[in-house]
Amino acid sequence: RTTAERDAADLVARRDRTYAEVQEHYYEAPPRIERGWREHLVGTDGRVYLDMVNNVTPLGHGHPGLAAAVAQQLRTLNTNSRFNYGAVVEFAERLAGVAPDPLDTVFLVNSGSEATDLAIRVALAATGRRDVVSVLEAYHGWTYASDAVSTSTADNPNALASRPDWVHPVDAPNPFRGRHRGADAARYAPEAAERIRELAASGRPPAAFIAETFYGNAGGIPLPDDYLAEVYAAVREAGGLAIADEVQAGYGRLGNWFWGFEQQGVVPDVIAVAKAAGNGYPLGAVITTREIAARFRTQGYFFSSTGGSPASSVAGLTVLDAFRDEGLQRNAAETGAHLKGRLEALAERHPLIGAVHGLGLYLGVEFVRDRATLEPATEETAAICDRLLELGVIMQPTGDHQNVLKVKPPLVVARESADFFVAMLDRVLSEGW
Ligand code: PMP
Repeated sequence: RTTAERDAADLVARRDRTYAEVQEHYYEAPPRIERGWREHLVGTDGRVYLDMVNNVTPLGHGHPGLAAAVAQQLRTLNTNSRFNYGAVVEFAERLAGVAPDPLDTVFLVNSGSEATDLAIRVALAATGRRDVVSVLEAYHGWTYASDAVSTSTADNPNALASRPDWVHPVDAPNPFRGRHRGADAARYAPEAAERIRELAASGRPPAAFIAETFYGNAGGIPLPDDYLAEVYAAVREAGGLAIADEVQAGYGRLGNWFWGFEQQGVVPDVIAVAKAAGNGYPLGAVITTREIAARFRTQGYFFSSTGGSPASSVAGLTVLDAFRDEGLQRNAAETGAHLKGRLEALAERHPLIGAVHGLGLYLGVEFVRDRATLEPATEETAAICDRLLELGVIMQPTGDHQNVLKVKPPLVVARESADFFVAMLDRVLSEGW
């Protein structure tokens, strides 16, 4: 082993001694990464890796404008949001400005888990109810309420057996390998609507329906057409709210749409955002109507020490400036379409690729052992990711079967980088794995 490899392994061993081991890290033997630039990560081994998984940094790694703005704010003032300063007001206004009417009121927190948790609490407070409908194979966070509605067995093998009784999961509307496939996928929405009506009839009408607006964690799969329109209508009919988890799908990643729900032609009652909103700086938000936000008063006041702090507000503002000025969403549409086309061409030559899912720069390459039975190629997917790392590409599996490559690079990714990823994937699939 090289000195750099020994150093990287020593660091993992040290990490496991003090940092609770249950906290995941990528790869058995990860390189030590201490630097990044745009869609590239630089190892202490001197190698440059193409980062095809980092949806936390849509602007790319090491963004100079963001670094300068946050550093300047940290030198000037950083305190809790109970003080009266400009950045939090400007950021709240700008964030409300990118949300559709009538969503004009913002809560600021520090992460996606906090955002979905608060979205649920807002819905409970606004309706005075306690039940929530969520979707199978979903991940919404680690806090009590966000974890409760998370059903993905990839993240928690025991998830289905351990949901609290106020959580009512409906089928994952997966048109590729779910219960209803292809054109039959139109049946998921009426079934979810029926479940909501049953709950209402049984005296437990839901406070909310929560779902990602694009099937992110399950493999980058768009929801069936009109799915959200039908399910949102049903939950509103029952007096509940529609919560859109935009932590992954929002902020331009789908290319032609800034929000995932736009692609479905709906407007939710509550939006949860994080990840992209701070480009890796801890920042999450809930966006809703004034009326719904006001009902939170029944729970007391809301306060988060660092949510909406001067530094995180400046981070949020600078990210929105970059979205306005740096062509990120356009690149998601253009480079995303190019990449999807090239991956589909690869599928014609490699039978292991069962499908190429996705929109914009949120794609899923699903590996199957047999295109008829769709037997998931789980071990192969892990081996392919390990081999891609050797070839300089960071890529990770997703989905309950861990058989889908989760393709979600920084939105600055260059077409040449996308082509490099395709070339390396082609090489791995041609070698065997
Ligand atoms: N919602 C979704 C859809 C997510 O993918 C995640 C994180 N993977 C979260 C919520 C939780 O976000 P965080 O890790 O920032 O708490």
